[in-house]
Amino acid sequence: MRNIVDNVYIVNPYDPNGSGCCVYMVDTKSDEGLVLIDAGMEIELLRVIEEDGFDLKDIKHCLITHGHIDHYGVCNKLKEFNKDIKFYAHDLDAEDNELKIRDPSTAQMYADYKYEPIKINRIIKNDNEILKFGNYEFKCIHIPGHTPGSVAYLLETSGKKILFGGDLLGIAINFQGGNLDAYLKSMQKLIELKIDISCEGHEDLIEPAEKVLKFIKGYMELNKNLNTVVLENPSDTKALFELAFISYELEFYEMTLDFCNYLLEIQPENEKAQKLLKETKKHNPTKFEWIKNFINRASGSVN
Ligand SMILES: [Zn+2]
Repeated sequence: MRNIVDNVYIVNPYDPNGSGCCVYMVDTKSDEGLVLIDAGMEIELLRVIEEDGFDLKDIKHCLITHGHIDHYGVCNKLKEFNKDIKFYAHDLDAEDNELKIRDPSTAQMYADYKYEPIKINRIIKNDNEILKFGNYEFKCIHIPGHTPGSVAYLLETSGKKILFGGDLLGIAINFQGGNLDAYLKSMQKLIELKIDISCEGHEDLIEPAEKVLKFIKGYMELNKNLNTVVLENPSDTKALFELAFISYELEFYEMTLDFCNYLLEIQPENEKAQKLLKETKKHNPTKFEWIKNFINRASGSVN
C-alpha cells in the first residue's frame, strides 16, 4: 500500500497484466472502520492491507464507482471477512438492488470469472449526496458517460481535494451503455471542482491539479475522436491521427502504437503518423491490437 495523504491509501497500483482495478482505502479512525473505494477482482491483492497492520474484517464500507465487474468482482468474498460490510452504488448501475454483470464487453473479457451478485445496501440516487464515515465525508458526484450510473467520490482532507472517479479514462462513446454527451458534461463538472489528486481505476494517481486538468481534457478529446472513428467513419484519418496524438500526450503508448498502426494501414504514406510511430516505439510499448476489433464489433452490432 502507498500513502496518498494521512489515512488515505492506494492499495494496489495498476497492473496492466493483472485483472481488476486500482483499489483505494480510507482509514476513518472511528467505529466506521475502513472504507474501500472499489474492490477489484482478487482477494489476494487486498492482502497487502493486512501487511500494513490492518485487518480485512475492519472493512465496513465499500463504495463502488460503477457497474463494471473489474471494479467489484471480489465484493462477495469481502463478506467472508465481515458479513455486515455495506456496499454503495448508483441506482442506474444497479438492478433490483444488486450489481449485476450488464456490460457485454466487460463480461466477455472476464467470461471465466465466477461472480456472485452482491446486494447494494445503499443506493445512491441524488447528485452530491453525502456519505459520512467518522470525520470523513464523501460527496457522491454522478458522472454518467462511461456507464449510466458512474459515480465519483470526492473527499476533502489534508487540504486536498481527492477524487475517486473510477474510470474517468474509460471508453465513453455511444455504444454498450456509454454516452458521449453525458460524459463530456460529467467531465466538465469535474473540471470545475479543481481536483488536486485524481485516483484512477486503471492508472496511478494523477496529481497535481494542472495534471488532473490535462488528464481529464485529454480523455474528453480522446472519447470524442473515438466516437467518430468507431461509430461514424473508421477511415477518418484526421480523427485517427488525433487519437494517436492525444494518447501519446497522455503517455498511453500502447494505444498510440495501435492507432498509428491502424492509421498507417489505411494511409501508409502518412508522414505525421510515421514520425509519431517512431517516437512511440522509443517508449517500448507492448504490442496491442484493439481498435480494429472494436470497430468491427461496433459495426457488427449497429448493422
Ligand atoms: Zn469501467
